[in-house]
Amino acid sequence: MTQYPIIMSQTGFTHKDNLTYPFEERGLQFGDGVYEVIRIYNGQYDLFDEHVNRLFQSAEAIKLELPFTNEELKTLLIELLEKNDMRADGTVYLQATRGSAPRNHLFPADAKTNVYAYINDLPRNEEHLEHGVSTITKPDVRWSYCYIKSLNLLPNVLAKQEARQQGCYEAIFHIDGEVTECTSSNVYLVHAGKIYTFPATKRILHGCVRRRVENYADELGIPFVEDGFTVEEITTADEMFLTSTTSEIIPITKVDQTIVADGKPGPITRKLQERFSAQIQTYRKKDPQFIQS
Ligand code: PLP
Repeated sequence: MTQYPIIMSQTGFTHKDNLTYPFEERGLQFGDGVYEVIRIYNGQYDLFDEHVNRLFQSAEAIKLELPFTNEELKTLLIELLEKNDMRADGTVYLQATRGSAPRNHLFPADAKTNVYAYINDLPRNEEHLEHGVSTITKPDVRWSYCYIKSLNLLPNVLAKQEARQQGCYEAIFHIDGEVTECTSSNVYLVHAGKIYTFPATKRILHGCVRRRVENYADELGIPFVEDGFTVEEITTADEMFLTSTTSEIIPITKVDQTIVADGKPGPITRKLQERFSAQIQTYRKKDPQFIQS
């Protein structure tokens, strides 16, 4: 995986090796910060407004002041592509924390928000997109504000690691049997031609790709029902899939010991994937974002 050397920080653009913080950093000590991951196709940001808007919503929800406006941030992120001459498929990771200050739970009076953003290459995972993945279920022991894209990801990390140790791709969270989302993706069940997923409340992250799937479903005339489903109901699923910025739309073929339907990606999942791939093709036809054509 290529990591591009120039990063964006609160003090401007710099080589990644030059970025240092005092060890008393609130992101490290309290998880006191928020983040975003934006997909890049052919040097262009996908769902750009959606991700930047969500970053501002997350920051506002934790009373964190960002050192730029929405438009300024977009300009900086495009400059980041340019400075790295980034023309491939990848992601940008951006995080903002409540700064560096002597450790104290209270907000520091004079600390400045620490920000950095960096870019990695990330090719599309053709194998997962084509054949689907296995998953496990885990109780959702996270806090009640999962709509905030906060840095507090320990329950997500532990559940995903357990999935990986069982040879699976993702862990599906549930609260008393009701499925919410996965550790780093949203999850859907298709039954009798309808797509079911947990409603966009505070208990899940409102995924940008989830919104896109809702739009595609509308266009395709497939009912998109914001009504959760239970772990038990998975045995009745015709199809299942998950979505995220890095995963796109991946079929789920197995949950714990249950094979989903016939164990093969289903037709509604395929239709949504086709629409997604068509959208990406529009980036292939254009120059990277920083080249003014
Ligand atoms: N749910 C969680 C917990 C996530 O961390 C993510 C993405 O990181 C998602 C859902 C999917 O969100 P998006 O489609 O915006 O990537």
